[in-house]
Amino acid sequence: MGVAALIVAAGRGVRVADAGLPKQYLDLAGKPVLRRTLDLFAHRADVDRIQVVIHPGDRFLYDRAAVGYGPGLAPPVGGGATRQISVLAGLEALAPFDPDRVLIHDAARPFTPADAIGAVIAALASSPGAIAVQPVTDTIKRGQGNGPIVGTVPRDGLWRAQTPQGFHFRSILDAHRRARDAGSTGFTDDAALAEWAGLEVVLVPVEGLNMKITTPEDVTLARAMLTQPFSVAETCTLETRIGNGFDVHRFASGDHVWLCGHRIPHSASLEGHSDADVGLHALTDAVLGAIGDGDIGQHFPPSDPQWKGAASHHFLADAVRRVRARGGRIVNADVTLLCEAPKIAPHRDAMRARLAEILGITIDRVGVKATTTEGLGFTGRREGIAAMAVATVSLPA
Ligand code: MG
Repeated sequence: MGVAALIVAAGRGVRVADAGLPKQYLDLAGKPVLRRTLDLFAHRADVDRIQVVIHPGDRFLYDRAAVGYGPGLAPPVGGGATRQISVLAGLEALAPFDPDRVLIHDAARPFTPADAIGAVIAALASSPGAIAVQPVTDTIKRGQGNGPIVGTVPRDGLWRAQTPQGFHFRSILDAHRRARDAGSTGFTDDAALAEWAGLEVVLVPVEGLNMKITTPEDVTLARAMLTQPFSVAETCTLETRIGNGFDVHRFASGDHVWLCGHRIPHSASLEGHSDADVGLHALTDAVLGAIGDGDIGQHFPPSDPQWKGAASHHFLADAVRRVRARGGRIVNADVTLLCEAPKIAPHRDAMRARLAEILGITIDRVGVKATTTEGLGFTGRREGIAAMAVATVSLPA
């Protein structure tokens, strides 16, 4: 066998206690951390087998996180009291399959770039050990917490040891067995154990995000990164804009109306230069209002013959394009239709779906409501339909 991946997931993550779950099983935007880590390796052509080491008490959590993977994912094995013991248990489980190489990886490192994994594998062609590292960027001080600085450690030549840590399989298995037999149990990573055993381990500097989820702040950050369509830096400078719109069209003879992009058979039609969709017109003005970019009449003048009979979704799509051109996105939209007839409720969800499609957002972010005006005013006299709309836009400040 070629390359095996050994995922170490046996820790209890005492620094992150969220819903009583060990950190490798916490939900990150719909997927457990462990599943995201498995995905790093499960889709690679250069990894042949994945072995996870778990805490024996976490079998139920593991089964839920690992559901649906193919035969390349081996049944989990139980770990021990220390990371070193757990890794050895995983190596012993892989031994019957005799892989050439093994990549040992922290379950709590779900963002490792694919290039970093490839670079560690490549480095094993010329060295029995290779580990992902990133430079130390902070200045390092020596001393006791809250006490005076004893010294400054030159950061030149210092690297943060991360995972994956790759090894020739037989070499690292032998090293682990020797360490166990010698009673050496204090190794915090496999490179340190390999160094102790006299194996050469090379540093493989990797680029990109390779964070290990360790603290509650890491969990918050990871969730924010996965759920925001913007980077964290951009998110910090986003502001929320609100716009409103209002429109009225009168009834004329006809047999249908267009409302919120949806065609409804009716005893009259709405009169207008375009298709007279009051809902779309009000919402278009709301979106334009949120970014302070004029109104529908300015961008699509009724005097321009090319908009005669036009489908109004073009107007809303144009407003959405203007939001995107400024690096923004629509957060939600809400439309209220004022009329005695037609009845809106049977068409409400079709309208919401159509608006969501045009706006490029999910349907749960779109509201469509209707009200009569109790027989009062022009809508009460069934002379026309009015629409009000509000849109929220998220925009880089
Ligand atoms: Mg109009």
